[in-house]
Amino acid sequence: MRQISSWGRLSAFPHRIAPLSDVSKVGDIIAACKPGVAFGNGRSYGDSCLNPEGILWLTRDLDHLVAFDRETGLLRCEAGVLLRDIQTLVIPDGWMLPVTPGSQLVTIGGAIANDVHGKNHHLLGSFSDHLLRIKLIRTTGEVIECGPALNPDWFAATVGGIGLTGLIVEADIQLKRVPGPWLETETIPYSNLGAFFKCADDSEASWEHTVSWIDCLAGSGGRGLFMRGNPVDDKTRQIPNPKKSRMPFVPPISLVNKLSLRPFNEAYYWLNKRKKGKQIVHYQPFFYPLDNLQDWNKMYGPKGFYQHQSVVPREVGQDAVAEMLKEIGRSGQGSFLAVLKTFGNRRSVGMLSFPQPGVTLALDFPNNGPKTTELLNRLDQIVSEAKGRIYLAKDARMSRELFESGYPRFQEFLKFRDLGISSAMSRRLLGS
Ligand SMILES: Cc1cc2nc3c(=O)[nH]c(=O)nc-3n(C[C@H](O)[C@H](O)[C@H](O)COP(=O)(O)OP(=O)(O)OC[C@H]3O[C@@H](n4cnc5c(N)ncnc54)[C@H](O)[C@@H]3O)c2cc1C
Repeated sequence: MRQISSWGRLSAFPHRIAPLSDVSKVGDIIAACKPGVAFGNGRSYGDSCLNPEGILWLTRDLDHLVAFDRETGLLRCEAGVLLRDIQTLVIPDGWMLPVTPGSQLVTIGGAIANDVHGKNHHLLGSFSDHLLRIKLIRTTGEVIECGPALNPDWFAATVGGIGLTGLIVEADIQLKRVPGPWLETETIPYSNLGAFFKCADDSEASWEHTVSWIDCLAGSGGRGLFMRGNPVDDKTRQIPNPKKSRMPFVPPISLVNKLSLRPFNEAYYWLNKRKKGKQIVHYQPFFYPLDNLQDWNKMYGPKGFYQHQSVVPREVGQDAVAEMLKEIGRSGQGSFLAVLKTFGNRRSVGMLSFPQPGVTLALDFPNNGPKTTELLNRLDQIVSEAKGRIYLAKDARMSRELFESGYPRFQEFLKFRDLGISSAMSRRLLGS
């Protein structure tokens, strides 16, 4: 048994471990060791990758890059490969993963199972929009190949299906052409939510990547920094060699707390406001700003932290976000890594995929017990009234009612479940 926690470190549970390294043996192992659930790189914040007292199938050693066509950008790889390793391999040849989340330390299997989104959802949708084929092995031994044009119902259940339809062993991904590793970026300070939405609308047509940091302690007005970027060709620059550091230990209390948060946010706003305007930036700090500080999640102390990421429809988005900021202000708690972003006007393929047209707000809160969960419940209420949903990759606590209203295709999804797979999240939200 090994104590394992997810990225939020809210609790660590004993698990029995079944490492997977050979695709030809996966079917036998998961049939013999069940119920279990896949564990990629544990970058989900909540309980989707946990199975307390039960079995975890570790996928990181399913790490072969099977084929890469430099002419067409078609990549076939196993599900335990990290996005980082793909980017490192393909960018020198002028290709890149078309959609990438805010950390590259994520496996292909995890990226598919949460149908992850990046800063370019308005142009390129989510991860599943670039998959041509997935190979899935069920605990019954059945092997299913699916894609947008091959068993499309299995594909729709599996992308965003939080690992519950089978174990993904391999994927075919269509990469995107890029001129190199550089982006031209621009930072624009904004002083209220209206200005954020205007900036997002103005940027959609001509900027591939958009995202913003919002100062959630500045009241319901919502000041922040809007960042946008486009790939750019620049052969003159030296690839930076950033210093990697590590959070060396778990501090006895969260470093993000009432005393530190306001000066943190003030400093972040004013320092970055000074950088306003255009710059050429390497893709790594732009896409993955936290990856160079290993174990940064430890800074929240021994009790861990919650993430709350919601999406609400655009029509009610400004009011709902203002209401959430007001609630956070009222509670006296705050979030440092607060991200506000619009999603494009496109529906996701996955039955349980998170992205939907609207605006998404991601917040982190140190776990201060009932005080924090009460605030999160109030935020849930606002999301529910706005007819939005909470992101499963980040969740450890939403109610079944909110899950069912936010993900109305869940009944359809149940037909595809593999009953030899069970996680803490599936038991909490689906009853088994
Ligand atoms: C700093 C940071 C920034 C992030 N930014 C974003 C972002 O911008 N956008 C976004 O969408 N997400 C974001 N995320 C969330 C992250 O992309 C997802 O949680 C992702 O699923 C993690 O992948 P993983 O390999 O660590 O999977 P895990 O966390 O280990 O598992 C996640 C889920 O995938 C399932 N799974 C994993 N491998 C397989 C497999 N082979 N077959 C079947 N199921 C499998 C697991 O059972 C579980 O349900 C971020 C996370 C971090 C830590």
